[in-house]
Amino acid sequence: MSFQDKSIQCSDCGDTFTFSAEDQEFFQSKGYTNEPKRCPSCRQARKSERYSNSSYGAPPANVPRNLR
Ligand SMILES: [Zn+2]
Repeated sequence: MSFQDKSIQCSDCGDTFTFSAEDQEFFQSKGYTNEPKRCPSCRQARKSERYSNSSYGAPPANVPRNLR
């Protein structure tokens, strides 16, 4: 099976990023069926956010999750 680079719009910042054939292959090898919804930098930001949150043991109450 062959993959092709794909442009995806980040759902966080609205930027368009490339979901490369390489990444798609990687995703598939991991069994992920969903395409990434966020660009690498937003993903990274969320990841580090989650790590810092978990170290407090509870989500911060002052950040409304669904507020855009
Ligand atoms: Zn983004």
